[in-house]
Amino acid sequence: MEVIFSGIQPSGIPTIGNYIGAMKQFVDLQKEYKCYFCIVDEHAITVPQDRLKLREQILQLAALYLAVGIDPNQADIFIQSEVAAHAEAAWIVQCNTSLGELERMTQFKDKSQKQVSVNAGLLTYPPLMVADIILYNTNLVPVGEDQKQHLELTRDFVERFNSRYAGKNQEILTVPEVKIPEKNSGGRIMSLQEPTKKMSKSDDNAKGYISMLDEPKVIAKKIRSAVTDSSGIIEYNPEEKPGISNLLVIFSSVTDYSIEELALKYKDSGYAEFKSDLAEAVVTWIEPIHERYNHYLNSEELHEILDNGALEAQKVANKTLQRMKNAVGLGRKP
Ligand code: ATP
Ligand code: MG
Repeated sequence: MEVIFSGIQPSGIPTIGNYIGAMKQFVDLQKEYKCYFCIVDEHAITVPQDRLKLREQILQLAALYLAVGIDPNQADIFIQSEVAAHAEAAWIVQCNTSLGELERMTQFKDKSQKQVSVNAGLLTYPPLMVADIILYNTNLVPVGEDQKQHLELTRDFVERFNSRYAGKNQEILTVPEVKIPEKNSGGRIMSLQEPTKKMSKSDDNAKGYISMLDEPKVIAKKIRSAVTDSSGIIEYNPEEKPGISNLLVIFSSVTDYSIEELALKYKDSGYAEFKSDLAEAVVTWIEPIHERYNHYLNSEELHEILDNGALEAQKVANKTLQRMKNAVGLGRKP
């Protein structure tokens, strides 16, 4: 069975963008692949976090993974920092990655601009992500469009590592493929307040995102105040009408309607009616998720799932790490 790995940072509460771009794919793919879905807490501390809030967000994310439909009997759900191999492998990756490659990453450029003082970890975020992926001999990585560049770096790294350290026609690490939803299927959900900017859970302006744990009233209010345009026409045209196009993508992602069907349905409607129906659709979709979330959060079951997840992950990750250590000559001959 082919392997999938993906992760989400507990750097806030996941947004509807994280769901549509990443989690939705996780749920769809879990039957066909051996899946590892990680709570990447080590990535979250590349920017300042409140320690108590971080701890809370780790469990919230785990409960949300289950609430959206990830089945712990099919997929392995675990916390990154509970599998020590991630940080160890990341060091080997860093020592085989050039500084220039990391400085070119757009996520580093964007995020470092927002910081008064930039952690070295923000620069070395991609090598840690490479480690996450390669440790599980991953074939496929379902992510949002913003992670495309990091996946290219991962593939370059693996090819370089194999050619540097493996014998001819041998492979130490698996080269992963990336899987990104098309733009009109939610590969990049935009901020509700600045529809030319990606929706992010760490946005300082909470009006820009719909959190997966927002109350129905808050969801309706955020959708009502979403930035659109003055033309009054409901159509999918991301270049000229980024606000309305984004809302159409969200609408079609949480219902069975395609974007075309929605554009036809609302062609004679005003933005207020469209937004009110969208809010209703999001709330209808999210309410059962909230119920399941409340069931899992603070349950013993959740901790058991995470304990088992870490044990299972360690088995595979430690084997790959040992292969990497052997390849570069660390430690003694096993
Ligand atoms: P942060 O602002 O802390 O980086 P984030 O919202 O970007 O948070 P991540 O944890 O970095 O979330 O990313 C988790 C997954 O969600 C990744 O696969 C990423 O590509 C995807 N993702 C993030 N934002 C969006 C978005 N706006 N649309 C679609 N997918 C997204
Ligand atoms: Mg991000």
